[in-house]
Amino acid sequence: MSEQGDSAMTYDLLIRGGVVIDPVNGQQVVSDVAVSSGRIAAVAPDLPATEAAQVVDASGQYITPGLIDMHTHCYWGATYWGIEADPVTAHTGVTTWVDAGSSGAYSFPGFRRYAVEASRTRVFALLHISSIGLIARTYESANPDYWDVELAATIIEANRDVILGIKVRMDRDSTKGTGLGAMHCARQLADRVKLPLMVHIGIAPPTLTEIVDLMRPGDILTHCCTGQTNRLIDEQGPVHPYIRRAHEQGVILDLGHGTGSFSYATAEAMLAQGIPPDVLSSDIHQLAVLGPMYDLPTTLSKFLNLGMSLPEVIARATVRPAAVIGRPGLGTLRVGVPADIALFRLEEGDYTFYDIDLEPRHGTVRLVNTATYIGGSLVPHAAERPPHPWVATDFPAEQRPLLKGVL
Ligand SMILES: [Zn+2]
Repeated sequence: MSEQGDSAMTYDLLIRGGVVIDPVNGQQVVSDVAVSSGRIAAVAPDLPATEAAQVVDASGQYITPGLIDMHTHCYWGATYWGIEADPVTAHTGVTTWVDAGSSGAYSFPGFRRYAVEASRTRVFALLHISSIGLIARTYESANPDYWDVELAATIIEANRDVILGIKVRMDRDSTKGTGLGAMHCARQLADRVKLPLMVHIGIAPPTLTEIVDLMRPGDILTHCCTGQTNRLIDEQGPVHPYIRRAHEQGVILDLGHGTGSFSYATAEAMLAQGIPPDVLSSDIHQLAVLGPMYDLPTTLSKFLNLGMSLPEVIARATVRPAAVIGRPGLGTLRVGVPADIALFRLEEGDYTFYDIDLEPRHGTVRLVNTATYIGGSLVPHAAERPPHPWVATDFPAEQRPLLKGVL
């Protein structure tokens, strides 16, 4: 429903009668949200529709800040993993994408031009310590010649508006016999430029203790619900004491679901022990969009069905990541901030969700995005690009049953 008005209107857009969830102030009430000149102008019940150029009825829906996905891969065409952000943004409500290391020093200029500047979505980067970034599936840190701290620092200083942290992958394949070498360089770089370090974990070596030893408060441990050898829980289920200690000292636990890093067994153990992920991110990429991750709303739905409340889930994809990346003006509907807004329906039904080993869990609710606004403008739906040829052959064997009819 919309009405065209004249330019003397107080508001450009008025979204009426939804349940507003703003984790910054703990708000969850039926309210209207008004937008003027691309920014939030008012959040209050019964704002005057006659003062708005366009009116959208959101009754029966939730109005949240545009979501922030802290672990994404959106360097399409230049990397193994990359997808284009905008077509996904339009149907997920994710208005801010933090790309996790797709680009390194050599490929960041292209990332800036083709992924940041060419997208309507707000795209930020964590710069990979390896100068070649994630051009291939893995092995990016197998060659120490690519750990150029000096060059990475130069690129960061020239691009601080986009680069918000450093990325390193610490698993058997990414490091390929080089141990903690890339991590030491990433540590040195992060300390020098004073930005957080995101560390990917999975299959050892290096071991989880060696990795966590090199992390500092404000750093991000991604893939925290992995079921691989470097999982955060021991055989019997308790979360490792050194993980608890690191978390208490300020290390951030980030989900990063992806195609290899979400185990229900790990997630359920962490929730039961009162140490849930601080941030719920998707690790969205070419393979993950085909399932069982699919998208961030589906990932958030898994945690709703594990017993986390809707405001808690939304906080972990808005205000929490905003604080981690140092962007407090995002992930909130406070008056004056850019009008990044998402509308969701919480649908009830009979659903089955899967982790990456295709372990099923029954669910009764599902979060479905119905509209996404960036700076007050609706992001239009658009076709996503088809998967690249290597996706068909490289998709994890255990997840192929989900792909019938897709590839
Ligand atoms: Zn990733």
